[in-house]
Amino acid sequence: MQDHQAGDRLALITGAARGIGAGIARHLAALGHPVLLTDTLPEVEATAAALRAAGHDARALFLDVADDAAVAALPAAVGPAWDRLGIVVNNAGISPKGPDGKRRPVAEMPAAEWRRVLEVNLTGAFLVSQVALPALKARRWGRIVMITSQAARAKSQIAGAAYAAAKTGLMGFARSLATECGPHGITVNSIAPGRIDTPMAQVAGAGVNEAFLAQVPMGRVGKPADVAAVVGFLASDAASYLTGTTIDVGGGSFMP
Ligand code: NDP
Repeated sequence: MQDHQAGDRLALITGAARGIGAGIARHLAALGHPVLLTDTLPEVEATAAALRAAGHDARALFLDVADDAAVAALPAAVGPAWDRLGIVVNNAGISPKGPDGKRRPVAEMPAAEWRRVLEVNLTGAFLVSQVALPALKARRWGRIVMITSQAARAKSQIAGAAYAAAKTGLMGFARSLATECGPHGITVNSIAPGRIDTPMAQVAGAGVNEAFLAQVPMGRVGKPADVAAVVGFLASDAASYLTGTTIDVGGGSFMP
């Protein structure tokens, strides 16, 4: 169902060139939101162009979420449309693996890998949320959604330790931000996807994904649209009393 105010609520999605982020951008655009797709990959232009060709209001910007200066310059780069910002989806993330497609054990993980994963997956969400707050507070309405992971909900089976640490930190950050932002009409929630069919998941290889599938009650790998549907709900007025929570979108692979 389209929200009648959707057209006045710009949605910013990080890591939106492909995978889950592109799926979220497609869904929010279909709900009537103007969408701002950001990514470090040049393909983000084509993803936004495809949305425009389908009649949606979509724009692309290159943005490394871990680049303090670039994030600080975002309102100026977007221009007057920034005042319409209503929804922020912190989706950009990395999950580095070794040459065999498997996570590096802690004993072999270079400190540079640890730092970069925290910078992108955790600090990036902090920077983007922080730069968005003045616009959201000014309109006294906002939705911030963190894309965390089941690696933050239970034993991490596929991703490395840095990834699990960053995604767990992201949930803690979301709870703190939700507490601060509630009085301003802004909700902050997390989504913890299970195995979703994207380029990131494909790096692990078919064997790893099939073994994981064996313990998914719904009997299939997830699609970006499965995550996007929940973002659409969290971004709606119907979800105005939901904040500081985490929704597992994993076909039942993790049940608290
Ligand atoms: P993809 O790798 O397919 O897409 C992620 C996108 O984010 C890529 O385009 C990537 O570009 C971009 N990106 C990476 N680093 C940055 C950065 N510093 N600034 C901006 N954009 C960046 O991953 P998914 O779609 O699978 O994952 C999306 C989110 O969902 C991630 O946060 C991931 O951790 C999470 N997730 C995914 C699951 C899955 O099974 N797929 C399961 C649980 C959580 P580039 O190629 O240049 O790195």
